[in-house]
Amino acid sequence: MATEREQVNYEVAIANRILAEMGLAIGPLSSLGHASMRVPSRPDTFVVKGRGYAVDALAAITPEQMVLCDADGNLLDGPPGSSQCYEVKLHSSIYRSRPDVSSIVHVHPRYTVVMSVLGATLRPMCREGMELVRLPLPVFPHNKLILTEEDGVAVAAELDGSTALLLHGHGAITTGRSLGQAVMNMAHLEEQAKMNWYAYCAAGPDYPAVPDEMLEESFGQPAPTTLPHFGHVSAEGTASAISGAYTYYATIAARDLTPPT
Ligand SMILES: [Zn+2]
Repeated sequence: MATEREQVNYEVAIANRILAEMGLAIGPLSSLGHASMRVPSRPDTFVVKGRGYAVDALAAITPEQMVLCDADGNLLDGPPGSSQCYEVKLHSSIYRSRPDVSSIVHVHPRYTVVMSVLGATLRPMCREGMELVRLPLPVFPHNKLILTEEDGVAVAAELDGSTALLLHGHGAITTGRSLGQAVMNMAHLEEQAKMNWYAYCAAGPDYPAVPDEMLEESFGQPAPTTLPHFGHVSAEGTASAISGAYTYYATIAARDLTPPT
């Protein structure tokens, strides 16, 4: 019977691998970024990808390599020779200030980063992630790594109650009530940033975006399973697009791993 820690280690390792599979931590970014998750039975602690491995890449991380940290980002447990990720303070500070957050993702996605440097406010350009960028996202106005307690607290304050935070010329942070949510929020953020970049290049800095009335119309749509022609389908039987994509990438990410049982 797998322990809770083994289960959490596995889920966090898969989430980190998915970030690589989705192209959010590849090439020169292969070892940059980390996903974390609170331990359900001890929510003042969290498990995150660490550093100090012989091969340090999100795509190749294993459950045994995950590290356990306390609410201040101190190392509680991890494999010999490993340490927390350098930017562990962004995780610990956000977990302390946001009891509603169960998972956090930080990566350096290219389109999100370039748009932050251009100072272009991300706006809804497609359906995927439209709720994330409906209102201007907060921006942490520094390029530096989040290494100190002070910087971690400043990042958490800048994030405040938002789902996502941009770090100027550096990367982004997304939160979620689950690893799947936090990862998909990051994937959708980068998708919106890419579409914004295309529009910026095609039409200049004053490019149009999907108007808010249309977003309102979309958000007001009924669930498909409530429509008469889907009367034979149970609401539980229809997986959302988010869980579908995450589940698909999780099967790829698990290629050489044995799930805990
Ligand atoms: Zn970073």
